[in-house]
Amino acid sequence: MRKGLSAEVIARVLGAAPKYTLEELEAKYPPRNLPEGAFVTRFAPSPTGYMHIGGLYQAFIDCKLARQSGGVFMLRIEDTDTKREVADAVRIIEDSMHRFGLEYNDIPEYGPYYQSQRKDIYHSVAADLLARGLAYPCFLTPEDMDKIRENQKAAGFATGIYGEFARDRDISEEEITRRLDAGEVPSIRLYSMGNPANRIFCKDAVRGSIGFPENNEDIVLIKSNDGLPTYHFAHLCDDHFMRTTHVVRGEEWLPSFPLHIQLFRMMGWTPPLYIHTSTIDKIDEETGKQRKLSKRHDPEANVAFFLQDGWPVEAVLEYLGNIAASGYEEAKSKGQVKSIWDYEMRPKKIPMSGALFDMKKLEWWAKEYIATLPVDELVKRVRDWADEYDLQWAARIGNDPEYLKNILAIERDNPKRIRKDFITWKQTLQEVSYFWDDLFVSNKDYEFNKDLLSAFLSTFDICDDKDSWWAKIVAIAADKGVKNGEVAMNLRVALTGRTNTPDLYSIMQVMGQDKVVSRIKDVING
Ligand code: GLU
Repeated sequence: MRKGLSAEVIARVLGAAPKYTLEELEAKYPPRNLPEGAFVTRFAPSPTGYMHIGGLYQAFIDCKLARQSGGVFMLRIEDTDTKREVADAVRIIEDSMHRFGLEYNDIPEYGPYYQSQRKDIYHSVAADLLARGLAYPCFLTPEDMDKIRENQKAAGFATGIYGEFARDRDISEEEITRRLDAGEVPSIRLYSMGNPANRIFCKDAVRGSIGFPENNEDIVLIKSNDGLPTYHFAHLCDDHFMRTTHVVRGEEWLPSFPLHIQLFRMMGWTPPLYIHTSTIDKIDEETGKQRKLSKRHDPEANVAFFLQDGWPVEAVLEYLGNIAASGYEEAKSKGQVKSIWDYEMRPKKIPMSGALFDMKKLEWWAKEYIATLPVDELVKRVRDWADEYDLQWAARIGNDPEYLKNILAIERDNPKRIRKDFITWKQTLQEVSYFWDDLFVSNKDYEFNKDLLSAFLSTFDICDDKDSWWAKIVAIAADKGVKNGEVAMNLRVALTGRTNTPDLYSIMQVMGQDKVVSRIKDVING
């Protein structure tokens, strides 16, 4: 510990006297009045303009843990990097949260929820540390620090501002005043009393208690350029005064864990329980090795990709949820739970290393999910997607919404035998695109038996019920000496361009007399 600074110097260092005492902050943000065992969680993204699937994974865990325990889930915007444009980036985050149904509960009493608006809180806590000799103003310039780093490297020391390299840690009040008078602007650094020869134990809900060497770096708490906090300091102040009980964050924060516990202890505050999540990985197509999903190389790292491509958000969440709570799939298949929201997630069981994100497996969840939708809901979801992302499709559907409904209703009346052809809203439309003349692609490879098609045309009547329709096909087959299936296949390919489709009778019924006749004629005359 060093000698604490006087109130007057603290006010000069911070640019103004602190607005609150710690007691006032404690009273302003009192412990929450929640039932025993309720989780208070927060998703705390930096507004980068990009929402990573790993962020969605964390946000889901946060929201789920809070919801299942009757707690509170918050969204905190970590906008302390003032060089970044924030407005649209926040919209992207909020929009993703909303679309995935991760509703947060940002009550004003514990706000504001933008770190850039919480300066008074950070400065008040920093003032307390300055007064207690646990922090100090540091006047090192970037050039000074470069020099220190070079020297450390040359001498084989660990780099950083610590111990003897922390030039200003014992700077006197007179010197501070002199430098301030000269117009120098300090950062505020921690006066670290940690000794790497000692171990500090940090509790992770999944990993248990982890021992680390104590931190001895005088890390920056408040930056000199804008007076805003670093992540470490903001985390301390915010998660204390927001009364967060569980911090769900990426494992990249594990190395800073001892520092964070040190900060909580210095303040005499109880740290939250931490859940450090693993990265979301994939198997690299080229190397065959497991690696982190990369923002630069993998479109599926971006949450926007799933929205644009029309993946059912429920299926994406079920899939991510099943990674976090791996018993879910089994419980669901046994019919014990309906959705991931009904399945209890246990923090201890959240995986601690390389969770694999496999698009094939996601497809399975999506097919299963879409198969459960009543046709009206399916139509609505597909239309909503088209209205937003594909105006040509939106116009096509808009011309005759009943037509789409009839198409999607095919083979959907028996819940036990629903086809699982549909994966995304976009792909659903592609899957049934042959119903529209402007999208229909005739099959150039198939060798049609025009004789069979002509025979069918001469007897075709859209009013036939399924049995009479089939009887006609059987009669043609017998007459021409071919199998029933060959007649049906010729019709199928003529009408749809495909060899594999849902029920042919239903397709004809939905297409209607004119379209059926004209497509068959096109083949015969083609
Ligand atoms: N802004 C930090 C990040 O995006 C938040 C980490 C945390 O949840 O504490 O990694």
